[in-house]
Parts: sequence; structure tokens; C-alpha cells
Amino acid sequence: MDGKKLEYKGEDALRQLEKLTIKAKEVQESILEEIITRNGASEYLNKYMQGSMDVSTFKTRVPVIRYEEIQPYIQRIANGEDSSILSGHQITEMLISSGTSCGQPRMMPSIEEDLDRRTYLYNLIMPIMNQYIPNLDKGKAMYLLFIKAEKQTPSGLAARPVLTSYYKSSHFRSRTHDPFNDYTSPNEAILCPDRDQSMYCQLLAGLVQRQCVLRLGAVFASALLRSISFLERNWIDLCRDIRNGHLNKSIIDPSLRAAMLNTMTSPDPQLADEIEAICRLRTWKGILCQLWPRVKYIEAVLTGSMAQYIPALEFYSAGKIPLVCTMYASSECYFGVNMNPLCYPTDVSYTLLPNMAYFEFIPLENGLQPSSEEQVEQDKLVSLVDVKPGCYYELVVTTFSGLCRYRVGDVLQATGFYNYAPQFKFICRRNVVLSIDTDKTNEEELHKSVTASKKLLEAFDQLLVEYTSYADTSTIPGHYVLFWEITNTSTKLNLATPLRAELLQECCQALEESLGYVYRRCRSHEKSIGPLEIRVVKEGTFEALMDLLISQGGSINQYKTPRYIEPGQALELLNSRVRDCFFSFRDPTWNL
Ligand code: AMP
Repeated sequence: MDGKKLEYKGEDALRQLEKLTIKAKEVQESILEEIITRNGASEYLNKYMQGSMDVSTFKTRVPVIRYEEIQPYIQRIANGEDSSILSGHQITEMLISSGTSCGQPRMMPSIEEDLDRRTYLYNLIMPIMNQYIPNLDKGKAMYLLFIKAEKQTPSGLAARPVLTSYYKSSHFRSRTHDPFNDYTSPNEAILCPDRDQSMYCQLLAGLVQRQCVLRLGAVFASALLRSISFLERNWIDLCRDIRNGHLNKSIIDPSLRAAMLNTMTSPDPQLADEIEAICRLRTWKGILCQLWPRVKYIEAVLTGSMAQYIPALEFYSAGKIPLVCTMYASSECYFGVNMNPLCYPTDVSYTLLPNMAYFEFIPLENGLQPSSEEQVEQDKLVSLVDVKPGCYYELVVTTFSGLCRYRVGDVLQATGFYNYAPQFKFICRRNVVLSIDTDKTNEEELHKSVTASKKLLEAFDQLLVEYTSYADTSTIPGHYVLFWEITNTSTKLNLATPLRAELLQECCQALEESLGYVYRRCRSHEKSIGPLEIRVVKEGTFEALMDLLISQGGSINQYKTPRYIEPGQALELLNSRVRDCFFSFRDPTWNL
């Protein structure tokens, strides 16, 4: 598929979407043929295809894999070997995904034309929205978009998150003016690597243009909430800038200063007064409706782990502004769009776009089998058009950039079809127990870091009896909480031995140091996760937890302590038995 075929906008984009979804089966088969034609001779694929370019050979011989199996091939390219190890096209960059492998960031190969596929999906969003909310071209979008730190692979390829790659690309920077995608934030603010300067200026630009703003958003709900919290701390400075027509001295990035001085043409004391009066209100309930009175919807990912932020966004919008989830995407591949964008976030289904990659599905019984360690036989895979509504699947992709039958790790439930393209509810990321921002910590990683940390206790005759965890998003930013039950091994009589604060703080520190790369990046660099907390609970708490869960229908024979807890009775029980809380006192180590 050449890039030109992907350049659809407006009504054209919708017509093309109809065609694609009506011909979903044919499109998928031709995508697979094209991928095989291009990548069949690559070292990886040829190992299985052995010279064949046949779709049926692919289907019977190419194994279903996880990251660990493809990682050595990706690493060789990152080290400077030829792209033909994986792909018939030049690998132009490595996309750092939020998944980690052995604590290290995962790198996904990407080719130049992947940018066209991403743009194709972005171009569908506004035509879809326009069907439900007209006149979105009569105002602006205040989208808080950020780039993240990037590095180079040993061979000099850029290694960065997919959105950073997109915002830095000419597809974004040199986009032609489109009234449907007119942002309040200047590019310089989005592309400023310093998060505080970027956030300050994006909020300032949004406030100055508050009467033009028709939609508010961020990619993930967590980022939007952090921006609101930033506004809470900085509105006095922002109002001062608007009143005086000067830009705060803390904005030192020269291109950003220049761009912002263009946006703030003259002092505006009246606007500053209006904003101040709103920010001084006793409660910030509904603040978004007051500050941006013409907003018709708020856009952010609120499905999957981001659903935990729905109540907070409803608070700031007083439940009056629709919350819209438009798309489902990853570093490996952009997957699909929400064709019914005004539905409530918990009801969202994404329609997979058959031209993005070749999609297959591992059927899952009970929602979550088989485990990620289990080998999946090729003949178990179900193709895109054959999924059954109501059933659960794990998503498997074969991409143009060289991932073949790669398990993305997402668990989806088929809910229906748009023409012949299936629609899915995002259920969860397999094995992920904790997530605040883009971090995804699985049970194994959590266990490993608990094991490393509890060793510190043992030197003081203290033993960790049981633990569980919770993602606390009542603070902004949210933070990881571990509930620990500790016993004293030197004397059982001494139950109430005072806990040594420094020791427990060291344990918090050790936990953070052994969590994955993305967690440490969010904590230390992006500050999008707060310090980890250990809540030490009274002895006997985990027995009480077991009693509670069994009384709720759990089986006593199969009982296992859950390694994470969601809000509800179990959490209340744990919180009611907390002896003391301890926090990590410095940022964990993080190197690019
Ligand atoms: P990354 O590889 O870091 O780009 O993260 C991609 C992952 O984020 C996906 O595989 C999903 O687990 C998650 N994700 C992306 N979009 C959505 C969405 N709309 N709803 C829920 N989870 C999502």
C-alpha cells in the first residue's frame, strides 16, 4: 500500500472507511499477501517460510510469539545490522513502548510509511466526530500534547515513544491548515522537551483563546488531569501574564517564548479578571465548563486502565460534557477507531481497521486464558472477520515493519461488527496489575521488586508475611500503594514493635528501583507518578481479607491473595487496618 492511498480526509475518509470495512476479509488477505511479498525474504520470516511466498505457508508455519522471541532480531538492527533481518523496508526508527521486558523498555521497529498509516487513522477522527457534533470547524481544540525524552540506538536510530515520533514528524509539524484540527497550542509548546514550560504555555494559550475552544483533550486521561492540577497550582501566574501581556520568566525556551509572544498580543486585564474569578471559586467542580464555556466534548483515552480517571473528569466537568474516547493504538500498530464516540467510556468499542496490519486473535476461555508463557498453536488463531461477538481474545498482529504474529498483550471482547470489521471492547492488558500513567506493571515485575525490597526487613528480624497493591489515583499524580503485613521473627510477643521509618522508606526506595523502565521514567523524568507508598497493616489483616473474599464467593481451596486490589470493600478493609504509612523519599534512578 503506498502512502497516497492513505491520504483521505473528511467525507472521502468516511467513504473509504465504508469500502474497507465492507471488504474487510479481502483487505486482510491482501494485506497479508503484501507483507509476505515485502518481508518474506527477511531473515526472520524466511526461517519459517523457507523461500515460499505463500499465505498458506505463513499460516501453518509462522509461530505466534511474544516480545522476548523477536527481541534479539530487533536488538541486532538497533546495533547496526541491516533492516532486512526483519523487513523489506528500511527500519527508520525504534518506537519505545510502555511495555517492558526484564525491566528494559521494549523497542518496536518502524518504517517511514507507518507515519502515513497513523495519519490515515487520525484523519478519520474528525469526520466521525462531525457526524455527531456539527460545526467543530468553527472553533479550536485545546489539546494538551507532550513529547517525551528520546535516545539513540547504538547504530544511531532514534528511539522514542510513538507519539513523540509523530509530533516531531513533518506529518504533524507541517500539516496544512485544517479548520477541524486547529489547535490552541503552538507546535513549539507541544515540542518543548521541558514538561513544565510546555504545560504552562499550552494552558496559557488555551486560556487566552478560551472563548474559541470547542473541545478539550489529551491523549491519556492521566495527562489531562495532571494539567488541571498544574492549573490549580499556577493560575495566579497565568492570570498575571494575561493581565500584563508578559510571559513568565520561567519560560526560557527561545522558540517557545517567540511563539507565545505571538499568541499573547496585548495585555488583557478583563480576561485575567474573568479567569481569576472562576479559579477563586470555592470548588473546582465543573471548572472546565466555566473556563471553556463552549466546549462540546472532552477527548482522552478513558478505556482500560484509564477508566479509573472517569470520576475525576466528571467532577471537573460537573458531568455536563461528554467524555469521548476516539481511538485505540500502540507502538506496534494503530488499531482502530470508535464509530460511536458519544457513548459512555465504559461502553466504548473500537472498530479495527483492516488496512492497518494483519490481525489474528487467540481465543480466550474465561476471559484470560492461556497464560502469556503458554505456546499458542498456529491453528488456534482466529482471523479478523471470524471473531464471535461476546467472546474474548488476545490480539496478535503481523505488521509491515516486521513483527510477525506478535502477541500485543491486550485482551479484547468482540462486541459486534461495523460492516464486516469487528468491534472490540478493550478489557485489559494481560497481566498488568498496576498502572497510573503509561506505566504497566505486571504481577511478575511487582513480585520481583517486592522480593528485592523485603530483604531489607530481614536483617532486622522482620518478615513480610503478605502483600497486595493498589493504584491510588485520589492524589494527582497518582501513586502505587503496597499493603504490607509484617511480623517480627525474634519474638511473637512483640507485635506492636514500632516500625523503623527509615527502614520502611528504604523499602519503598528499593521497590521503586526494581520496578520497570517506564515506571521509573514516569516517576523521575515525567513526574507523572507520585512517590510509592507502603501501608503497613496490622497482623491478621490478610486473613481477614481472605475471609472477606471467600464470603463473597471465592473458593477456600483455590484462594490466592490477590496481588492487586480495586476500590471496594476489600480496599476499605485494608485501609481500616493500616498501622502506618511510608513513602519513597527520592526519585528512582532512570537513565535514558
Ligand atoms: P504503547 O505500546 O506504549 O504505545 O502502548 C499501547 C498500549 O496502550 C495498547 O496495547 C493498550 O494496552 C493501551 N491502549 C492504547 N490505546 C488504548 C485505548 N484506547 N484503550 C485502552 N488501552 C489502550
